[in-house]
Amino acid sequence: QTIGDSLDATVAAHPERDALVDRAQGVRLTWAELGAEVDRLARALAAAGLAKGDRVGIWAPNCSEWVLTQFATAKLGAVLVNINPAYRTHELTYVLRQAGIRMLVTAESFKTSDYVAMVATARPECPDLEQVFVIGRESWTDLLERAGEVSPERLTMLQRELDPHEPINIQYTSGTTGFPKGATLSHHNILNNGYLVGETCRYTEADRICIPVPFYHCFGMVMGNLAALTHGACMVIPAPGFDPASTLAAVVEERCTSLYGVPTMFIAEWALPEFDSYDLSSVRTGIMAGSPCPASMMTKLIESGIDEMTICYGMTETSPVSTQNHTDDTFEQKVGTVGSVHPHLEIKVVDPVTGETLPRGVPGEFCTKGYSVMLGYWEEPEKTAEVLVDGWMHTGDIAVMDADGFVEITGRIKDMVIRGGENVYPREVEEFLYTHPDVLDAQVIGVPDEKYGEELCAWVRMKDGAEPLTVEAVRAFCDGRLAHYKVPRYVKVVEEFPMTVTGKVRKVEMREATVAELG
Ligand code: ATP
Ligand code: MG
Repeated sequence: QTIGDSLDATVAAHPERDALVDRAQGVRLTWAELGAEVDRLARALAAAGLAKGDRVGIWAPNCSEWVLTQFATAKLGAVLVNINPAYRTHELTYVLRQAGIRMLVTAESFKTSDYVAMVATARPECPDLEQVFVIGRESWTDLLERAGEVSPERLTMLQRELDPHEPINIQYTSGTTGFPKGATLSHHNILNNGYLVGETCRYTEADRICIPVPFYHCFGMVMGNLAALTHGACMVIPAPGFDPASTLAAVVEERCTSLYGVPTMFIAEWALPEFDSYDLSSVRTGIMAGSPCPASMMTKLIESGIDEMTICYGMTETSPVSTQNHTDDTFEQKVGTVGSVHPHLEIKVVDPVTGETLPRGVPGEFCTKGYSVMLGYWEEPEKTAEVLVDGWMHTGDIAVMDADGFVEITGRIKDMVIRGGENVYPREVEEFLYTHPDVLDAQVIGVPDEKYGEELCAWVRMKDGAEPLTVEAVRAFCDGRLAHYKVPRYVKVVEEFPMTVTGKVRKVEMREATVAELG
């Protein structure tokens, strides 16, 4: 099946059910209406010259047109390239060129991002870019008017020619560990992953999913939009960008049954001063994912009555989900692990040096194999070969699997620090620093050192009103309680950590800044 076939089936099965709510624009569509809008846009794009295999970029915050573009390009077999709404001209130009984008769908502007002006700056350097459509402007309405040039029969014919194993989507990774790489995914990859995520959340056409996570990332477009599409559930867009109060207001007013977020989003929502005034009793399930999920936050979610809340672990390269909690997992399994293997996938934990499979309980690199593994990185065969070995995706994440198959993610191989020959897992030192009464948040990185190869540096955010910690104070706090080689040599007190839009701490940037400061 292709994404287009799946859409047609849902439209036929649940025409009158709600499909999409875009609260900021006041758009509400049933599946019949959404199906018709998607077909109109697909015919218009075909009239504008978009064909199977062509790359079409989408650069906009969450909005109903984002979803229409996702499904319309899938109907034509064009390759949708998700572009991070936080990018600026330098990154935009890179992606437009790297993916050879012919058509770009973008928004006018949002907050500090003037998309139209930035596209104008990038355009002279992007010879492949032929047409730009700006949502809400004349270029968009003109495009839609062209739908009449391509008949519905012609669209059906184009749709029949598609093969579900062809590329349909290029998603750039978050860029947490370096420059983003373009994971190339097929209908088969992402449609099945979206379906199986929906199955694990036990979605039906009665579910209403609140999606504050960005569509440009697989969390929004696969775990959100495709899980909804394959189950006839409704996608609710609370706002174009993340805002904790509008997210909870959307849950209450739309009677959402499922709530998504990266850990920082849930933390912000549950910390709202008026939190108790929101009636969240409609929420049955949801997903927290994307970065390490604090046990304390998961506990709060379950205690708030969201009994079927799940944690997912995955990465862009694997469509994305590899493990997820089940509704019948024990409380400890739900709170303390990222769940167990997803259906139809294989997983293993290997020694990152020898590649040998490790026994349960021993930390090593998490690997996965099966339908969800990407076709490769777009036009980067060397980088693809580094991570894809005999069909196994080497994730670069450090995991421990227990006797029952439950997985804990304990860090990233790239973040591991080797100080004087001793392996230090930053997560362990960070968890220790959190126990200091004045510390709000801590991140630990390795920086080059002549004597020990690497030394540890802690970046610390202080609680309101607390005195900034000195390096001496931190060392005194660690003394006698933490092995000497795990004690940070440098301490830097900061207001904020550098973050990706997907809510992850960019340790690469922290390392660069620290190295520059140390000279
Ligand atoms: P890049 O590959 O460009 O450095 P990235 O790996 O952050 O960026 P994504 O594909 O968005 O890009 O994120 C996948 C990564 O997020 C995983 O490899 C893992 O490190 C982390 N992650 C995802 N879910 C979880 C989770 N539940 N717990 C811990 N870490 C998670
Ligand atoms: Mg990655």
